[in-house]
Amino acid sequence: MSARIPENLLEDILSRIDIVEIISAYIPLKKAGRNFKANCPFHHEKTPSFIVSPDRQIYHCFGCGESGNAFKFLMRHERMEFPEAVEILAKKAGVVLPEQDKPEAVRAASLSTQLYRINELALGFYESNLNSASASSCRDYLSNRGIRPQTIKQFRLGLASAGWDHLMNFLRSKGVGLVLMEKAGLILPREGGGYYDRFRNRIIFPIFDIRSRVIGFGARVMDKTLPKYVNSPETQVYIKGKNLFGLNLSKDHIRDNDFVVIVEGYLDFIIPYQEGLCNTVASQGTALTLEQVRLLKRYTRNVVMVYDGDSAGEIATLRSLDMLIEEGMQVRIAPLPKGMDPDETVRREGVAVFKDKIQKAKGLFDYKLEVLKTRHNIREAHGKSKIVSEMLSTINRFDNAILRGEYIRRLSEEIRLPEHYIIEEISKLKPRTPAISSETLQGKRKASGINPAEKLLIKFMLEERDLIDKIMQELSPADFSDMRTAKVVSVMHDLFSQGKSIEPKILMNYFNEDEASQLVCESMFMPEFDGKDREKAVNDCISRIKVQRLKSRREHLHMQIKSAQSSGDEQRLNNLMKEFYNLIKKGD
Ligand SMILES: [Zn+2]
Repeated sequence: MSARIPENLLEDILSRIDIVEIISAYIPLKKAGRNFKANCPFHHEKTPSFIVSPDRQIYHCFGCGESGNAFKFLMRHERMEFPEAVEILAKKAGVVLPEQDKPEAVRAASLSTQLYRINELALGFYESNLNSASASSCRDYLSNRGIRPQTIKQFRLGLASAGWDHLMNFLRSKGVGLVLMEKAGLILPREGGGYYDRFRNRIIFPIFDIRSRVIGFGARVMDKTLPKYVNSPETQVYIKGKNLFGLNLSKDHIRDNDFVVIVEGYLDFIIPYQEGLCNTVASQGTALTLEQVRLLKRYTRNVVMVYDGDSAGEIATLRSLDMLIEEGMQVRIAPLPKGMDPDETVRREGVAVFKDKIQKAKGLFDYKLEVLKTRHNIREAHGKSKIVSEMLSTINRFDNAILRGEYIRRLSEEIRLPEHYIIEEISKLKPRTPAISSETLQGKRKASGINPAEKLLIKFMLEERDLIDKIMQELSPADFSDMRTAKVVSVMHDLFSQGKSIEPKILMNYFNEDEASQLVCESMFMPEFDGKDREKAVNDCISRIKVQRLKSRREHLHMQIKSAQSSGDEQRLNNLMKEFYNLIKKGD
């Protein structure tokens, strides 16, 4: 991992920053004894198992096993490459990366860095197209759609002209290669060879990440015969489920208003924003993912979903909101008349009318119940049962027992059945169904499953350098039953003999594999032992590993003896038997 950047620089950076400060910029950390706790940002959970240690400058999640130092956290959370994380933390730490290291580091960073740059170049090109003399009809079109010149500038709207290779030629002239253009999703391969521009003859809506870097594009037709929108494909920097359109502009407004309005399309965001309704984001038409909800949670816990009449009547749409409740968000629904969207509502009726609809949004419980009552007969047993089972899936997501109780009471009133029937049904539902899966959830890892004696020994060695020597006189890396432990122990031993630091946060830089750094972190969070207990624990661990070593040697010999027997190799069999008896004589 650290091949390109000198180790002493990495150490220098890590010694000047505080991992608690770095991580708490992303998620709220709570003090818990010597450590800090939080709900893990890498997997879905309700009770915190994500621990940050200020003493050791590492983090570890006991739920999914994700762990590492500050570099690793940035790489995971921001999807950065290692050199990029180093650059950012170096800047924060005030460590200057020597010039000869820099270009290489930046180059390596950097498919992502390159894609941001190419997207920015492309956007500049699209913007200047829209400003050119020949684009007057396009500017008229935007103005007829109610978009002011000031708004065009603010949102950096652009124009992809009608040719097949305009952008491609422009980017080429800037020295960008075709492979990168394709990786940025800007060009597509032709069947017979060669490439063509993905976006042609369309208005360009750039998509920014929360740091206002261009990550992708939405492109809208002016000509009605074509599909309305074409979007960038997912790329290394544009992951749809991780981004919310407009959040870079609206985040402060969301925080100030303490609620967010979620709309669907680009114009549903832009038009109300232009008229002063700024605490909005656009979901780009798909159901919210866990990552998106977590992103919003940094700014507010109150959400108003705006749907047109069709979607708002869909139970499936409403069901997808249960996840927000599970994340502790308060959800309200503002339905618009059928076929109307926020863009049209604001243009036709004014922003005040739209704001009023948002103000009158109903809570998810009430809204869903209302929709269900139009679908099922509430006076009839089957209808009641349908309504209850649908409502319970929502009620059951509330973490708070008082809220759950209150909603059960109200539901029982609505359907005119005693509460205990509903409580009986809810008891069948437990345990709660997990929230909608996300990319990180699918890649979920469990605890390493490594023998506790081996983990404990690693912890002792990390805490007390001198133990390394003592332990290495008794055991060799190969004595550890697991490849990961063996690797960690062998690296520690090497560093120790070279007189280098083996602090966990630094040790981790030596491993490319997640498993090895997970092991280091997991070890560090093993129970503490003091004084006499500690000495005893060290000896116990060593002898346990020795017993295990003997056992596995015996098993191995046993297998060899069997195979020598069946192959009739007398000489070999003899030697093996001798070895076997020697082993047993040793006791243990
Ligand atoms: Zn986790």
